[in-house]
Amino acid sequence: MTPADGGMTAMDRPSPAALPRATAVVTGAAQVLTCAEGAPDLVGCIAGGVVALAGDRVLAVGTPQDVARRADLAAARVVPARGGIVLPGFVDSHTHLVFAGSRVAEYSGRLRGESAASLRARGVPSGIRGTARLVRAASRAQLEDEARERLVHMLACGTTTVEAKSGYGLSTAEEIRILEVQAALADSQPLRIVSTLLAAHEFPEGVPRDEYLREIVEDIVPEVARQRLAVFNDVYCDDGYYTVAESRRVLEAGLRHGLQAKIHTDAYSHIGGAALAAELRVVSADHLNHTTEAELAALRDAGVTGVVMPALDFAVAHTKPTPARTMLDLGLPVALATDMCPGCWLEAMSFVIQLACRHYAFKPEEALRAATLGGARALGLQASIGSLEPGKQADIAIFDLPSYEDLAYRFGRVRARTVLRAGAVVHEGAAP
Ligand SMILES: [Zn+2]
Repeated sequence: MTPADGGMTAMDRPSPAALPRATAVVTGAAQVLTCAEGAPDLVGCIAGGVVALAGDRVLAVGTPQDVARRADLAAARVVPARGGIVLPGFVDSHTHLVFAGSRVAEYSGRLRGESAASLRARGVPSGIRGTARLVRAASRAQLEDEARERLVHMLACGTTTVEAKSGYGLSTAEEIRILEVQAALADSQPLRIVSTLLAAHEFPEGVPRDEYLREIVEDIVPEVARQRLAVFNDVYCDDGYYTVAESRRVLEAGLRHGLQAKIHTDAYSHIGGAALAAELRVVSADHLNHTTEAELAALRDAGVTGVVMPALDFAVAHTKPTPARTMLDLGLPVALATDMCPGCWLEAMSFVIQLACRHYAFKPEEALRAATLGGARALGLQASIGSLEPGKQADIAIFDLPSYEDLAYRFGRVRARTVLRAGAVVHEGAAP
């Protein structure tokens, strides 16, 4: 026995043949950020770390020595990190991915000081109903092509899973058409898409309120569940949109049909949506600008994840930003998401991290964790994605940055060098 054997005899040492074989290995990283559940530093930072993959899964993560003890790397394809950072692909847990056209005329009109009423009078497509009109006029191919272009940018910015909501259809046929576009996209491009029904995004023009509610509860929800077009059912519970009683009807209908509940609430008013979210134990409650500390604590106790979207607050110049620091201090699990939609056109999760750190008092490690494992939790997928741990999906983003803090610090550096989804390289950026 020699000191170099670390106390093991040759007989004790596992032979390389006994080790599981790695199919690929990510090497040469300045840092590997595992974002593992129990990481005391929240991001599981391993300087000079290595990630070994077996097919679509993570096999081992650690220092080069640790990984060599746990995986046979002899036949592994090398994915070079070239001194960059290696992290779980971002999980963007709140988007309205599929829509037609844009609302740049509305946005620029507001920047020039024009009122919403004046924009409407000029016929400028505005708000949810404005986009719903554009969606109705668009072909399926147009909806798919426009959403696909956004997904290409999301992937290039390091996102590997995106939640996508319907909600610009506002009728049975149109809501289903949007979800079918999402299903087609899920099958034809690399990002994992998690679909959410949001028929209760707004009320359609020219249909009595009660009639549309009946349509959601009796027609849309059962049909979407029967066709397995969505995992989640969501509602916009806020003043001017769905009341708490209406939101309860919508969410309970989904739960009866096996659709898990999400809620948009407290973005612009305080009507009791958070209490409903805690009572129904929704998977995530999103926005929460006006939610009280007691309600946030109740959400935490109910196992709810809070989804914070700093770019939406930025886009609308919100006067009451989401109290994210309070959420973090209370121990409420938090996710960061883009809220990609016609009113907040953002593909890059790095910008969300930057806003969260500067304006919402996130520490860089809290922000990175919320953009990865937090996002996975907001989708109920924390057992399979959101961190680099053995057995989890090998969804990995590599950035040409020396440390994870640079994600918060270098504002324009948003493109990933390399992105893997389920062990396969699906994006390669140009060398600088
Ligand atoms: Zn939303």
